Amino acid sequence: MKSIVLLGASGSIGVQTIDVVLNHSDEFVIKALSIGYNVKVLKDILTKVHPEIVCVVRKEDAQALSSEYPDIRFVYGDEGLVELAGLDGYDVLVNALVGFAGLLPTMRAIETGHDIALANKETLVVGGSFVMEAAKKHGVSLYPIDSEHSAIFQCLQGNQHHEVKRLIVTASGGSFRNRTRDQLKGVTVQEALSHPNWSMGAKITIDSATMMNKGFEVIEAHWLFGFDFDHIDVVMHPESVVHSMVEFVDTAVVAQLGTPDMRLPIQYALSWPRRLSLPGESLDFTKLSALHFAPASFERFPLLGLAYEVGRRQGNLPAVLNAANEVANQAFRDGRIEFLDIEDLVISTVNEFEFKKEITFEDVLEADAKAREIVEMKIKEKM
Ligand code: MG
Repeated sequence: MKSIVLLGASGSIGVQTIDVVLNHSDEFVIKALSIGYNVKVLKDILTKVHPEIVCVVRKEDAQALSSEYPDIRFVYGDEGLVELAGLDGYDVLVNALVGFAGLLPTMRAIETGHDIALANKETLVVGGSFVMEAAKKHGVSLYPIDSEHSAIFQCLQGNQHHEVKRLIVTASGGSFRNRTRDQLKGVTVQEALSHPNWSMGAKITIDSATMMNKGFEVIEAHWLFGFDFDHIDVVMHPESVVHSMVEFVDTAVVAQLGTPDMRLPIQYALSWPRRLSLPGESLDFTKLSALHFAPASFERFPLLGLAYEVGRRQGNLPAVLNAANEVANQAFRDGRIEFLDIEDLVISTVNEFEFKKEITFEDVLEADAKAREIVEMKIKEKM
């Protein structure tokens, strides 16, 4: 029986993680979980799973819930998240938090010797070198919960690192893939939030439309699998059937295909090296009329190009890139800026930021905070 701490239980990945756990209740149990503000969703979750500890954002929610559920211990805030990550007696942390908030709990889980199933890609974008170094030091494994990285992880099974020629990350192109840059002027939040293939959370759906998400995934792949950026390619694949591929030195290409169902990457991250049954839809090849592939354009998707550049330069820039994007993404969803402003804000903030190559973990936190301030200032100037 594998005992799980689940951070971000009410989000898209969190809900599907609970589904996986309930489908295999003889394999997995949830020891602790966190949610944000949505107490109603939490109450629904608590009719299905029975954690010992729950973390919420607000102290008053924790207090009110404590009297309603005397058998559960409630904690709150960022400290609560870190406490959950550092608990004794569990096997794997499922980190399905959104954004920078996922970094400190990840570090805590690693330092206390827990394996991690990681859906929070920002953790690796921002703190990749620190996270990987700590994981090595503490003998901890990281399992990807991202469809592309799960696909690569599956393709790599049974092969050696030096046998790989390149990783090929597929990209759907997001909600605006068929539009030119001119046609992006004045697009609405609602339009941006309708992803053609995947049903995901709001932040990542916007990141998909700018392809910042794909840029993050390139950096994530670099850290997870240990390949340099010259050996990680992105290819457009609008059908999202091929979840990603690996080319080996003998030119053989191994791909993982399937219907778009995030429960597979979640489940595989928890069950590896075994495979368990999944009550999902099988891919029907006879119904696939065609699969398309095309080059990914850095002109059309400048944030993808920027991610490669930032990934290669490292230092404090990944933290700046992520922070600028988090603020700009949120500002667009709040109706404060236009869609194309997201790119302008992120690119200008990264380019103007004072580059520091050799950094400590504190520098990462500092770059994050400063970049947020700068973007906020730029947004106010625009308004
Ligand atoms: Mg992905």
